Amino acid sequence: MLLKYFLTCLIAHSACQSIPQATVKQGILLQDVTLIDGNGQPPKEHMDILLQGDSIAQIGQHLDTTGVTIFHLSGKTVMPALISAHVHVGTLKGKDNSGDFYLRDNIIRHLKKYQDYGILQVLVMGTDRPMLFESGLADSSLKGLAPGARLHSAGYGFGVTGGVPPPSNGMDFVKRPATPAEAAHEVDLLAKLPVKTIKMWVDNMGPDKPKMDTAVYHALIAAAHSNGMKAAAHLFYIADARQLAKDGIDIIAHSIRDQEADDTLISLLKRNDIIYIPTLALDKFAYAYGDIPSWLNTPYFKKSLEPEAYEFINSPKYKDGIRNNPNYPAKVKAFETALKNACKLHKAGVLVALGTDSGASPARTQGFSEHMELILLVEAGLTPLEAITVGTKNAAKALRVDEEYGTIEIGKKADLLILNDNPAQKIENTQSIYRVYKAGEEVSKGPLE
Ligand SMILES: [Zn+2]
Repeated sequence: MLLKYFLTCLIAHSACQSIPQATVKQGILLQDVTLIDGNGQPPKEHMDILLQGDSIAQIGQHLDTTGVTIFHLSGKTVMPALISAHVHVGTLKGKDNSGDFYLRDNIIRHLKKYQDYGILQVLVMGTDRPMLFESGLADSSLKGLAPGARLHSAGYGFGVTGGVPPPSNGMDFVKRPATPAEAAHEVDLLAKLPVKTIKMWVDNMGPDKPKMDTAVYHALIAAAHSNGMKAAAHLFYIADARQLAKDGIDIIAHSIRDQEADDTLISLLKRNDIIYIPTLALDKFAYAYGDIPSWLNTPYFKKSLEPEAYEFINSPKYKDGIRNNPNYPAKVKAFETALKNACKLHKAGVLVALGTDSGASPARTQGFSEHMELILLVEAGLTPLEAITVGTKNAAKALRVDEEYGTIEIGKKADLLILNDNPAQKIENTQSIYRVYKAGEEVSKGPLE
């Protein structure tokens, strides 16, 4: 009896000693996968990827298996984790949107949702609040120490008094500078925070509201640049895109939706290295729920929704509001123009990056929207591989994290998705998430686990 007890302890002891050491020191081998690297190269089959610590250590065929933890993954595909360069986090809860919800728990809940859907970095476009910075969450999330996707913040956003964005829906912290000096001062304050991009709303969303004064937005852009930051703009009209492109904007954070972009504008965007984030999902969701969209009853969609949001978007009031809106045909047209411009700009060589405006309303549901955006990019005319590059490498460039993230290459951080099915064959397969790895560690088995 005593001997048996002794032997059990011995076995348990030796097991405890050897397994963690092998795991920590030697790494994890993802064996026999199909590799999509994010650079747009055709998928490579029967590849091994060695993860050591938080990074990708080796990529090749038949890598040495001595001392490593092996995961046999024949038939599975590995691609870089997705990055979304236009989202909103923390203000949405249930069917409502409010600054009151902007608490640590709600922010983390959203960041974990993105993570479950394979999105490991997000840029919040101008709806953050001081708590994010005062609590240290901005820093810890950026470093990957907080749970879920890493949050990149564009600070509080810049709008217009009496204009857009309306101060409801959690937009009450948006700064509304009256003069260029005030604008520059506010940007200087943001530059002291972990903020690398500022966000401004330049259109008036209707003829009866004031637009941002040109001198004010010139000051915003100039102050951003003098602080080493980039400036992003919400827009709709081609006229604003033309003006902003001339005036030094770095990121166009929505599609141009009133007209097709012409060659003069396209050359200007290219010459000035302006990044274009089409947010096609936003424009699709602006009218799609007037009908019953094909995804409405899929578990993958429903799981991404806030509690009560399913009932909300299926309510006759919501549906009728969309259907009977006199702007319904205009919204469909805007979406179609957005699709054309996304494809045209991408094919012409403008850097198109994935962003969705998810988290800004119950229908713009976090996580699902990013996968919908990939589908819509393919509908626009991109190949699935091009769409994947938009959602990985290009979005990493928009966040200026492309030296460490966005592609699967030796030395880069091991933020990756293991998928059951190959999305190069069918873009919907980005939804077949088997595992999500953040900095070399498994963090999720996907939203439906
Ligand atoms: Zn937005």
